[in-house]
Amino acid sequence: MILPIVAYGDPVLRKKATDITKDYPKLNELVDNMFETMYNAYGVGLAAPQIGLPVRMFLVDTTPFAEDEDLSKEEQVALKDFKKVFINAKITKEEGEAWVFNEGCLSIPDVREDVSRKPKITIEYLDENFKPHTETYDGLIARVIQHEYDHIEGVLFTDKLSSFKKRIIKGRLANISKGKIRVDYRMRFPSEKKKR
Ligand SMILES: [Zn+2]
Repeated sequence: MILPIVAYGDPVLRKKATDITKDYPKLNELVDNMFETMYNAYGVGLAAPQIGLPVRMFLVDTTPFAEDEDLSKEEQVALKDFKKVFINAKITKEEGEAWVFNEGCLSIPDVREDVSRKPKITIEYLDENFKPHTETYDGLIARVIQHEYDHIEGVLFTDKLSSFKKRIIKGRLANISKGKIRVDYRMRFPSEKKKR
């Protein structure tokens, strides 16, 4: 089932999300629905707060990046079919010299800006079967994970921009929070009443 993606301005995107336990209700169904929602919107990552749940879960599938011909063969292979669920994740290390990449966010349609982040991360997490992992990633995989990880910390990529850039996009962000934007996937805007 495709779920509505919560738009910029909704307080759920600003909450520090909480850990979940193995008995979290209908977890498999939620994971399936989140993947379906992400693919429908042509995203490479989606965090639970973006569908209105303030829990520490996000998923990533970097396969679309594998088509990028500017990348080396090795990078393309790493990105293809990199599909994972991250539960109760904790980034324990970020290292290297920060690099810039043009980021976007399904909760902030039509806004893309260069964001600076460190290239290499170490992350501890549970997979969808609650099996623990500690892994190190770099390049675009690390980038997507850092962006999604920020979501479970209540942080958005627009927070990381210079005050000059923030001023420039302020009006567009305000319009998104008012629902004054055309999007070709299902969204829920803060101005709308929650349907129960
Ligand atoms: Zn995002």
